[in-house]
Amino acid sequence: MSEFDLIRTHFAALGSTREDVILGVGDDCALLTVPPGQQLAVSIDTLAAGVHFLPDCDPEALGHKCLAVGLSDLAAMGAAPAWATLALTLPADLPRTSPDWLAAFAHGFGQLALAHGVALVGGDTTRGPLSITVQVHGLIPVGAAVRRAGARAGDLVCVSGTLGDAGLALRALLAGEVPASDLRARLERPTPRVAVGLALRGLASAMIDCSDGLAADLGHILTASGVGAELDLAALPLTGAVAAAVAETGDWGLPLASGDDYELCFCLPAGYRERLAVIAARCGCPLTPIGRVLTGSGLVCRSPAGAVVALDAAGFDHFAAGAR
Ligand code: ADP
Ligand code: MG
Repeated sequence: MSEFDLIRTHFAALGSTREDVILGVGDDCALLTVPPGQQLAVSIDTLAAGVHFLPDCDPEALGHKCLAVGLSDLAAMGAAPAWATLALTLPADLPRTSPDWLAAFAHGFGQLALAHGVALVGGDTTRGPLSITVQVHGLIPVGAAVRRAGARAGDLVCVSGTLGDAGLALRALLAGEVPASDLRARLERPTPRVAVGLALRGLASAMIDCSDGLAADLGHILTASGVGAELDLAALPLTGAVAAAVAETGDWGLPLASGDDYELCFCLPAGYRERLAVIAARCGCPLTPIGRVLTGSGLVCRSPAGAVVALDAAGFDHFAAGAR
């Protein structure tokens, strides 16, 4: 299959049809219309085999995930997804460039794109070690983006969904075990919290998506905002499996420092607390207050036993040991 056949067969008409796409796949550039009064939110991520995913992972899930991580970034700004471009580096060896592999990959990508009204408008296709780069473009009313800077002392620290599920699945896979299917789905097919991000526009004072672990990602909000925070570990939203793992090992690193959760962490003026449940119900996603923004700097965790433990990204292993 030539490069052009490959593009035509699998990627020429992927995702939604949108009126703001004047020209999509097929020319030297895509032509896109940004509506008056809107800003473009742009983000790009690369997933490399062996670094970000296991080389033999399910191609359908991989197609989903490489778009999901971008949509999660858009969600974290409160942007509405619109367009995507896709740069594929494919090895020459079968089966990883077989039509079946590509069809499954394109299906996973296309289904998530359809679900979020995203049109695939262009890309690039080259030979080399398997690597996938997706750029996403979202729309946001001028000035309405929710940034990392903006958290104020007294705000609630909140998080969507549950934490540590993907980390638990990865831990099992790396140990040669088969993770429970719901945990595996959290690792391989993350759900970008787009509706939550949109609903928090105008309410959240700061927001980020958790790709590197809650402690590190919340740390970015604190640094950008010039504040500190205290987390109540007993309040962390955990599935039964993660709660059991934490209880067994005493390792809070699982929910606090394992990556790939793709949940939103946000700060919310305390006066909006009542609205959380309404937004959570509307979006079909738990939204949980887990702490409070403080003056000063740094992140302090209060363990369920009441002990106060300071941690920073570098000292995290130390924290995990100390929390036992
Ligand atoms: P050029 O050489 O002008 O950069 P290409 O030959 O790379 O163009 O691509 C031809 C067309 O196919 C372009 O519109 C490009 O955006 C699109 N395209 C190439 N690879 C992909 C891909 N993996 N997914 C979607 N569109 C792609
Ligand atoms: Mg060209």
